[in-house]
Amino acid sequence: MKPKMHGAVKSTGYAAGSLLTVADLTVVEVAAILAATDRIEQMSSGDRARMLTGRRIALLFYESSTRTRTSFELAAKSLGAITTLVSDKSSSIEKGESLKDTGLTLRALGAECIILRHANSGAPYLLAKATGLPVLNAGDGMHEHPSQALLDLRTILARLPGVNAGRIDAKTLAGVTVVITGDILHSRVARSNAMLLPRLGAKVVLCGPAGLLPEDALGLGSALNTGCVEIERDFDKALKQAQVVMMLRIQRERLAGLELDLADYIARYQLNEERLVVGAPKAVAMRLVMHPGPMIRGLEIAGEVADGPNSAIEDQVRHGLAVRTALLVRALGAGGFESVTV
Ligand code: ASP
Repeated sequence: MKPKMHGAVKSTGYAAGSLLTVADLTVVEVAAILAATDRIEQMSSGDRARMLTGRRIALLFYESSTRTRTSFELAAKSLGAITTLVSDKSSSIEKGESLKDTGLTLRALGAECIILRHANSGAPYLLAKATGLPVLNAGDGMHEHPSQALLDLRTILARLPGVNAGRIDAKTLAGVTVVITGDILHSRVARSNAMLLPRLGAKVVLCGPAGLLPEDALGLGSALNTGCVEIERDFDKALKQAQVVMMLRIQRERLAGLELDLADYIARYQLNEERLVVGAPKAVAMRLVMHPGPMIRGLEIAGEVADGPNSAIEDQVRHGLAVRTALLVRALGAGGFESVTV
């Protein structure tokens, strides 16, 4: 397995249409994906269902998921594809079958594309190499969650006036500061966003206590040196600059021995109504409080904020469904993505 724990390394030699890391996407490709998302969204359901009629897509999930799994599945079905879900809880994976053998079995059964979520960073590279199929990384360990970063980008762009998704460039997010707060160390969402958003001109400010946000945050040392990604440990100071506030869950399943005083964490880093309204006027003006889910209400975010008028959390879910239709069309070389290479 190729464990890609640090920085942005491009992957080459995998089936066209694979999406293993956001580092593989040029800004032009990001624009093409977002433009295709718009086009597919505007199609009638009948036309959309003809795009991937009868194509076989396997969802291979070794970790729990609600939003990512369901949206990929619904996206595939809306395009007319046939889907099958294989999860570690109800398959031969439980009996110890390897990722490679599971992938080869799915390919022998006719799968043309595999969507993989796995607890190990780098697992999608192994699967893509072993099967030669296009693989979409639906979250691998502490590494990446590329479709999440794309849906987050679309959520942000939707709140900016006059942006044409198909024409985004390195300046589209100039002047936009995105504050990502919480368990940055374990977050593939933070990593993918911190790699993608600055390429469109955004500044990303990472915020959290040292235990959850080490100095070389996410291994993105080079990005930290460019000034596009910064660390600010004081949440209230970070909020003052933020047009976008992205809150992250404390990932208990990955804490492995890290002691965290939850009461102290809540006092310093919970996004509550007062903190937001008084401390983050620009994010309130944009109505851009985001969270990839699952949220732990009362811990990183207060229920009143999650349900409040500044929350874009349900919009993120809707954009996730839309973006994933385009990623599937791209993976299967349909709808104008024929020439895609990675
Ligand atoms: N759903 C996101 C992920 O799979 C965030 C989280 O689990 O907290 O990475």
